[in-house]
Amino acid sequence: AHLDRIADVDRAVHAFLHVSSEDALSAAGDVDARRAAGETLHPLAGVPVAVKDVVVTRGMPTTAGSKILEGWVPPYDATLVEKLRAAGMPILGKTNMDEFAMGSSTEHSAYGNTHNPWDLDRIPGGSGGGSAAAVAAFEAPLAIGTDTGGSIRQPGAVTGTVGVKPTYGGVSRYGLIAMASSLDQAGPVTRSVLDAALLHEVIGGHDPRDSTSLPDPVPALSAAARLGAQGDLTGVRVGVVNELSGEGYQAGVSARFEESLDLLRAAGAEIVEVGCPSFRHALSAYYLIMPSEASSNLAKFDGMRFGLRVEPEDGPVTAERVMAATRGAGFGDEVKRRIILGTYALSAGYYDAYYGSAQKVRTLIQRDFDAAFASVDVLVSPTSPTTAFRFGEKLDDPLAMYLNDIATIPANLAGVPGLSVPNGLSDDGLPVGFQILAPARADDRLYRVGAALE
Ligand code: GLN
Repeated sequence: AHLDRIADVDRAVHAFLHVSSEDALSAAGDVDARRAAGETLHPLAGVPVAVKDVVVTRGMPTTAGSKILEGWVPPYDATLVEKLRAAGMPILGKTNMDEFAMGSSTEHSAYGNTHNPWDLDRIPGGSGGGSAAAVAAFEAPLAIGTDTGGSIRQPGAVTGTVGVKPTYGGVSRYGLIAMASSLDQAGPVTRSVLDAALLHEVIGGHDPRDSTSLPDPVPALSAAARLGAQGDLTGVRVGVVNELSGEGYQAGVSARFEESLDLLRAAGAEIVEVGCPSFRHALSAYYLIMPSEASSNLAKFDGMRFGLRVEPEDGPVTAERVMAATRGAGFGDEVKRRIILGTYALSAGYYDAYYGSAQKVRTLIQRDFDAAFASVDVLVSPTSPTTAFRFGEKLDDPLAMYLNDIATIPANLAGVPGLSVPNGLSDDGLPVGFQILAPARADDRLYRVGAALE
């Protein structure tokens, strides 16, 4: 049914870069056979899932939205993909994204725009716009995204879907094409909080192949979602982050946010205001740390090892000239901008002034979270300051594009988990997201409070 739906609507939505019909049907057939043989299967066995194209999949092309990886077919599965397959979940295909996950609108994909199913003239958010649009357009019931600065939660918000960034280390990064290794986390994109919890339980858990993977077992997330769905939040302390509302937030976004606070109050939660003064500097710190790590991670795309290789048009064919020609042709403008920014911030003369200062700000943000979580159980804010904007509106203004991430980035810098749950429609008739943040390893709180709001 989902493959049919993709055939019907993906020409208009363009959520997918690759549809793996054969692979999906054979996995589904396998599940049917095992079920017929009386085997007890995982609750999500047979439920198909779409996977963001930055996650490597054996035998399926993986481009990370870039021309530099066009035609590359990975020889192995990411750990999270192994887990999806082990649970019997058919993989529908690979979803569109901003090149190397850099962007907030999916307009930086080298393979064309993904359209927001709510209004095809508008962006689906980014970088994981393909995964969110696939779920919102009923092309996939579940999808996997990755979130380095909001790329699961912001697309979730602007497409009316649920998006979760787990605690850093909660889901293995083995097999994710790294953008900024200290910030990247994979997580679920779904239509309900319980679905997200079930999918999170499948992909989470320790992985010896990822040195930053937490040793913890997967927490009881679906139980927390079921508890929250009963609607009783008595004793739960909710902190409203002062710095993440007000100026710069669309009126309809702020109005829906206030209404949800009333719902939380009615469910018995105690609402307090919390100051996190260092959050004002989160965006600046992120846009130094993230490009610095990306400039290093992307050095491996040299025309020798993966995908595209371009030889210089004239002159000698030296390794350095092949690298320059390949990277010049294979990377898009936003990726080049960040590589230049990152190498500059890391260069000997400027390291302390830029990268070093940004890392200090990161510590201050972590301390703000620690101080806040000493008195509240969760923090909340709108997920994104605006609803989905029109194509082209922010494309020529990188700073305006970066401002979309103002509310989502602090969680990545501190490694704490975050969930965006649909929060009604703004005055323009477009979806709004409500963000919930919890202390590291307390992902279950996101699901409890999120389910209470559904
Ligand atoms: N918009 C952010 C950026 O461009 C988010 C990226 C992400 O989470 N992958 O860096």
